[in-house]
Amino acid sequence: MRVGVLGGSFDPIHAGHLRLAQTAYEQADLERVVFVPAGYQWRKAEQQMAPAGERCEMVRLAIAGHPHFEIATLEVEREGPSYSDVTLEALKEERPGAELVFILGRDALADLPNWHAPERVLELAALAVAGRAGDGGPTASEALPGGLHGRVIWLDMPPVNVSATEIRERVQAGRSIEGLVPEAVREYIAAEKLYRD
Ligand code: ATP
Repeated sequence: MRVGVLGGSFDPIHAGHLRLAQTAYEQADLERVVFVPAGYQWRKAEQQMAPAGERCEMVRLAIAGHPHFEIATLEVEREGPSYSDVTLEALKEERPGAELVFILGRDALADLPNWHAPERVLELAALAVAGRAGDGGPTASEALPGGLHGRVIWLDMPPVNVSATEIRERVQAGRSIEGLVPEAVREYIAAEKLYRD
């Protein structure tokens, strides 16, 4: 069983995350994709996040109707920082025999050398990497940053020009986020008055 793991703040989950998950599902030959909302994001410590319960609820709303997508709340339930190697270790224990594929955008890949135990992450999972809008897209011959070595599947994904930062800014400015997040997530953000200040 090949299982994709897509970690993120999901503050909020948006069309880019869903496109990335679906592309990895198809191109990395996955049976499932597990969305893992981050607890304390030590790499983004200066950034205020919406409460974990609300970020998880938005993920649930966004993946409803995608039978091969699921959510794992282990990082938000764990005390302390969210380390991907610890998460992958736990997911592997839960699913003996599963082959894990860690899904990420190229911006996150660039930060990989600064993660906790990046070599261990690469032992535990192959990577599936997509470009982000404006970065020209990854090339098959591209090396991993920081001299790291591991198995990489470069995803061929048309760029989705949306980020959670842009969505938070739009909501705060009273602009529409229609089409940038699933409709149920847009309604939840409005009903819960998220990102207004
Ligand atoms: P923020 O704007 O708050 O930094 P974000 O939109 O980058 O957030 P995250 O939850 O931090 O979202 O991202 C989780 C993962 O999804 C990361 O690996 C990131 O690279 C990837 N990702 C997010 N948006 C896109 C997108 N539009 N295209 C491809 N990958 C994306």
